[in-house]
Amino acid sequence: MPDTIDQITVAPIPARHWTELGRNAYTPEGLGETRTEWLVRARTSGGVESYVNAKHSVAAEGGSIARLEADLREVFLGREVDSLLEISSGHAVAAGSEVRAALMAWGWMDILAVDLVARNRGESTASLLGGRRRDRVPAYESTTYFQDLLHPHRGLDEVIDHARRGFAHGFRQFKIKVGRGGRAMTPAAGLRRDIEVVLGIRDALGPDVRLMVDANFGYDHQPGNLAEFIRETSPAKLTWLEEMVTGSVEAYKTLRDLQATHCPQTLLVAGEVDSNPPSGAFVDLIDQRLVDGYQPDIVRIGHLRWKQLETRLAEKSILPIPHNFGNGRFGLIAGLALATSLDNWVSLEDERIRPNVYADDELTIVNGDYQAPAGPGLGVHVDDDAYTRIGVPNEVVIRA
Ligand SMILES: [Mg+2]
Repeated sequence: MPDTIDQITVAPIPARHWTELGRNAYTPEGLGETRTEWLVRARTSGGVESYVNAKHSVAAEGGSIARLEADLREVFLGREVDSLLEISSGHAVAAGSEVRAALMAWGWMDILAVDLVARNRGESTASLLGGRRRDRVPAYESTTYFQDLLHPHRGLDEVIDHARRGFAHGFRQFKIKVGRGGRAMTPAAGLRRDIEVVLGIRDALGPDVRLMVDANFGYDHQPGNLAEFIRETSPAKLTWLEEMVTGSVEAYKTLRDLQATHCPQTLLVAGEVDSNPPSGAFVDLIDQRLVDGYQPDIVRIGHLRWKQLETRLAEKSILPIPHNFGNGRFGLIAGLALATSLDNWVSLEDERIRPNVYADDELTIVNGDYQAPAGPGLGVHVDDDAYTRIGVPNEVVIRA
């Protein structure tokens, strides 16, 4: 009897950051503390169960729970697990022909398909995608927002204390939001605060932690301030500069010149906004090697597709540094599985969502690393007691 998907449930699950987050360069207000993941559970006739966060579908323009239900019925319900992926020499190489368009359009469907097939075969996601590449996954703390503006009476001290707490919790890499002078402060005051924050965190955490910055395009149309930021923060030896300006060949040639002059060891990274990678300006940025790391989102793009993208990036010696913010607790789980499968790995973005509905007590960062998941599939399952309380009251059940 072929194994087919015979029941799917969907439920919204609250996902809370470890603390309240301030704004970044483009959000009009702080990010607050609570987000939502749309947990899909797909069960097969053979007793396998897989999970994914389908929030990109619900949050998309025109998205709704009804639309998600219709898509799940069309793509997954009643389908044989074996037809979801093409397997060659034991590894997933492509989406199955009947579902290819859907899995290309929705990365979460790609992740669900890979998890279903991997669990059905009794192996890990990484093993199905080509092999386990590492036992530990370095990750970075990604919640150092404009905490100074959230607590203006404490200002700079508040941001530095935020990073100190992350260090005490086990992180050894930190990404710092900058770009205050775009929309959050005046350009001159924002530049000054950005520089103080970077140098202050370096001073507080010492020379051995890795620090990166993300401006969310906050230095657009400020060439003088961009140059001053890069020059003044060069003693901090940043690991990467992310989205300092909107991606274009012209802008990145300027940025490359600044980086080569002031911080040649620092990577230029971008690409989280690319929903169909590589597309738009990123085609040229990659071809001309004007970026060193590329960042399409893990859940938006999917596991199989990210693995395929890696091959193209490797030809240009560009590092995969996927975006993973907003994907909920599931994002950490999916990110660890992807990190375990990629040949090159830099660091996993951790938005630090508290445990919610997964039985994932072992997902703890120790000295900067998480343990790579062993599988089967993503290597994590839903805690039934927690789900009964949190998920069931809001659950949609989809059956034939
Ligand atoms: Mg970013």
